[in-house]
Amino acid sequence: MNKGLLFVISGPSGAGKGTIYSRVIQKTGMKRSVSVTTRQPRMGEVEGVDYYFRTEEQYQQMIAAGEFLETAEVYKNFYGTPKAPVFENLENGHDVLFEVDVHGARSIKKKYPEAISIFVMTPDFEILEQRLRARGTETESSLKTRLGAAKRELGKYELFDYIVFNDDIEQATQEVLDIVTAEKRKVKNNITAIKTLLGQN
Ligand code: 5GP
Repeated sequence: MNKGLLFVISGPSGAGKGTIYSRVIQKTGMKRSVSVTTRQPRMGEVEGVDYYFRTEEQYQQMIAAGEFLETAEVYKNFYGTPKAPVFENLENGHDVLFEVDVHGARSIKKKYPEAISIFVMTPDFEILEQRLRARGTETESSLKTRLGAAKRELGKYELFDYIVFNDDIEQATQEVLDIVTAEKRKVKNNITAIKTLLGQN
C-alpha cells in the first residue's frame, strides 16, 4: 500500500477555505485533522468536531509533551495540529486534509516537504473585506488586522503548490477536488499498485 497524501488548505481568513475544506472532506471522505485551540467556541461549534477547545495552561502542557506537528499563535489565540493521528492515517494509506493559517502551512511544509499546499484567495481584496464584514464576527479593528494579514499571507506565495481563486464556492471546491485527483494520479504515488500489476511485489 502507498502512504496517504497530506494536503494543506490555507489562505487568509474570510477567503472561504473553511467552507471548501468541509466540502472536500464531505465529497472525498478524506481524513480531517481536528486542531486544538485556546480560543472560545463560536455559536454552533462542537468540541472534537470543529476544534478541541483547551485552556492556555492545558495547551502549554501539550506543547511540552511534544504532541503537536505544528503550533501557531493566530490573533492572540493558539492553534495546533496534533501529530499522532496524522502520521497514523498516512501510514495506513489514508489521505489527510488540513486547514491551517499560513504560518501553519509553512511549519508543515518544513516538517513534511511532500505535503501538497493549496492557497485559497478571493479574486481581490475588496471581496475579502466584504466577506469578512458579512460574517459579522469581527470587530472593526480585528477586521483591519485580518485584511493587513491577508496581504502579507499572499506575499508568501512561494510556500504554495497551487492557488485557487474563490469567486464561486462550487467551482473553487471543484478545483481543489481536481488538484486532489491529479496528485493521486501521479505515477510516483501509485508505485505499489503498478508493481502489484506487474507481479513485482
Ligand atoms: P478561526 O479562529 O477563524 O477558526 O481560525 C483562525 C485561523 O487559525 C484560521 O486561519 C485557521 O485556518 C487557523 N487554524 C486553525 N487550526 C489551525 C492549526 O491547527 N494550526 C494553525 N497553524 N492554524 C490553524
